[in-house]
Amino acid sequence: MAKGKSQYCTWFCSDCNKANYLSCYLKRRNDEIVKELKKYCPQCRKHVIHKRKDTKKSS
Ligand SMILES: [Zn+2]
Repeated sequence: MAKGKSQYCTWFCSDCNKANYLSCYLKRRNDEIVKELKKYCPQCRKHVIHKRKDTKKSS
């Protein structure tokens, strides 16, 4: 069992709604949670706002 709880999140393109990025981070109280990020979407072939959605680790 791994120590510490890491939260997983997926970034969805706000344009085509495709899940383009996966990331995980350690959940801390003081951390500011970013909900939107501008990232490159290969489907739209441009930089688009991506929206974050938390996902639980499935195991
Ligand atoms: Zn897109």
